Amino acid sequence: MADRTAFRTCPLCEANCGLEIELTTKPDGSEEVKRIRGDQADVFSAGFICPKGSTLKHLHEDPDWLRAPHVKRDGEFVAVTWDEAFETIAAGLAPILESGDRNAVGLYLGNPNVHSLDPMIYNRALIKSIGTANLFSASTVDQRPKEISSAMLFGSVTIPVPDLDRTDYLLMLGANPVASNGSLCTAPDFPGRLSRIQERGGRVIVVDPRRSETAETADEHLAIRPNGDAWFLAALANVISNEGLADLGHLADHVSGLDEVLAFITPVTPEAVAERVGLDAPTIRRIAAELAAAPSAAVYGRIGTTCQEFGTLSSVLVDVVNLLTGNLDSIGGAMFSTGAVGQPSTKGKPGVGRGFRMGGTTSRVSGTRSSFGEFPVTVMPEEIETAGEGQIRAMVTVGGNPASSTPNSTRMNAAFESLEFMVCVDPYINETTRHADVILPPPTALQKPHFDLAFVNLSVRNVANYSEAIFPLEESQMAEGEILRRLTSVFLGEAASGPAAEAVVEAIDDASAAAVADGAVRNEFGPVAGVEGSELLEVSSEYEGADRMLDMMLRSGPFGSGLNGDGLSLAKLKENPHGVDLGALEEHRIPGILRTKSGTIELINDDLRPEFERLAATIEEEVPEMVLVGRRHLRSNNSWMHNVRVLTKGRNRCTLQIHPDDADRLGIEDGSAAKVTSRVGEVIIDCERTDVVRPGVVSIPHGFGQNTEGVQLRVASEYRGVNTNLLTDEYLRDPISGNIALNGVPVTVAPA
Ligand code: SF4
Repeated sequence: MADRTAFRTCPLCEANCGLEIELTTKPDGSEEVKRIRGDQADVFSAGFICPKGSTLKHLHEDPDWLRAPHVKRDGEFVAVTWDEAFETIAAGLAPILESGDRNAVGLYLGNPNVHSLDPMIYNRALIKSIGTANLFSASTVDQRPKEISSAMLFGSVTIPVPDLDRTDYLLMLGANPVASNGSLCTAPDFPGRLSRIQERGGRVIVVDPRRSETAETADEHLAIRPNGDAWFLAALANVISNEGLADLGHLADHVSGLDEVLAFITPVTPEAVAERVGLDAPTIRRIAAELAAAPSAAVYGRIGTTCQEFGTLSSVLVDVVNLLTGNLDSIGGAMFSTGAVGQPSTKGKPGVGRGFRMGGTTSRVSGTRSSFGEFPVTVMPEEIETAGEGQIRAMVTVGGNPASSTPNSTRMNAAFESLEFMVCVDPYINETTRHADVILPPPTALQKPHFDLAFVNLSVRNVANYSEAIFPLEESQMAEGEILRRLTSVFLGEAASGPAAEAVVEAIDDASAAAVADGAVRNEFGPVAGVEGSELLEVSSEYEGADRMLDMMLRSGPFGSGLNGDGLSLAKLKENPHGVDLGALEEHRIPGILRTKSGTIELINDDLRPEFERLAATIEEEVPEMVLVGRRHLRSNNSWMHNVRVLTKGRNRCTLQIHPDDADRLGIEDGSAAKVTSRVGEVIIDCERTDVVRPGVVSIPHGFGQNTEGVQLRVASEYRGVNTNLLTDEYLRDPISGNIALNGVPVTVAPA
């Protein structure tokens, strides 16, 4: 019998499943998790969870999860007090900060930040306090092309998601939601939603070089060549346009640049691209006709379309095809979420804004352009290695594991090792943090309140959930928001320890809250239009920290209660532990949500023109004989869940998948070791002969290879795997975004 049941949203991936957590009380009065299962009453996930969801217990109890800050002394990490840790940071950074060169500090924000409320709120102050141009994030590992393409087309990072629950036809490229549960598309029980498309007579088509777990369940699998997506999508658009199948519906008067795009893709016919994409022309023509004829259809592109050399262009073309078939912003098509903390629509008036332009700054060494104030992670090593003003001499990482998750790990690790000082906010001693001088561990997920600020804007249904912290902090721990504010205090040159530091932490909190209040009331269309920022701040002041900011965001959001209405507020979410359902996605949000300069969907610009030209010019370019693609497993989540034994037990999943034809040609036996070599490195890996990959393609999953010196992850270190980023190439990028091309890496394979 459980003594208490708590409900919370799983923060491990983008699906946001509701969890029911049974707790028992121990003889000493403390509580422990007895069982975690899906919350049947959750308004969105209705009881669904994947095998990772129940492991929040294991993560919470993981003995390798640091419970106190650690400082490296004589090459060994030792636990210290928080004051000691921040004093060490202040002393270590002093020579660098005193030089006055703020770019000498690099900041990397990893993927876990978007799954946690405090960093989403307080990282802004940290970024500002460091004042560096050398800001990097995990976004340029896997999704920056989609963010940029949306910003180009719609004026802000407003990413359409497939209306899974109402579509009649789903064309998915480079996505494997049966394993990942979706990305840039929040949909708990994604596999169930796919089945229901089929149950109601619809079709699911998967385009992927691998017959992935999702492809196995689909009505049709098209085994495209890696990196063929842009030609495939352009050929679809070409057919839809030239065959008179295009119908833009309500968006016909809200688009600019379409004629130019269609002119660019005139030579990109199914016949011209068939060899390059590895799909025959009649199939491409048939898919185009099916998309146009379906009562509703959605094209959805993910990792395979973004992590490649035409990442941004492929992402644009996904939306072009949705637009041409009348499925953009329409029921059953690709639609826009109305996030509980998102920007309210202008209610039908054309939204005109500042639009988006690439760049602003260029990186010091290679002149790579920034986007959204960040440089691509691909330039991080050269910025650390290259001497001169602005050279990164110290790094701060918050979450993430860039030594493992970014390309050419050998170079990235050597760069980190050469730093004068490194601080990591991270719970583990992993491939990245082993290089640190100080590690500041945040509490576990069960010790933090949770609201998903990011993914409510990428959701296939409008919902809002708030989760209370389940366990209190241990004496040696510090709340994540306080860690980030103490770090901010150091960069502001304020006190690093003692009551003076605590006063600064309070002041940063108040300044952050005031900024949120001012931003909220500046929106002329929201429920707090006409209200003073101080009034909003006052009404939310019953809460502290990130909760205070969240309450203001909810009140001022599209479903908000304003100062005293009955819409959303934090109190309302607390009364509804299974979440609040805000309804199906709303159609025809365009033009109200546009923020482009022209007030139209802008399909073309000076960055896209050369890419369209390159697309047409390279149709017949020779493809490498063998290329590497990634993959994902249901029981894996990047590199940081491999310390959970229930997820890693069983057969070795870090294998090289190779087609039997290639294996025969190369003399490779099933289960034998092969040497895979790329421009940047080589790995020895167990082989798995399988026809799930097409000939000419090999696949290695990411996030493995944690059996590295200095890593203190007892379970993960035992795992027989290799790091695929020893092979990926930091110079293989999407030219617009600088995002790494993790898929389509040329390699050679030989028996080891
Ligand atoms: S799919 Fe799994 S990991 Fe993702 S939110 Fe749901 S339970 Fe958590």
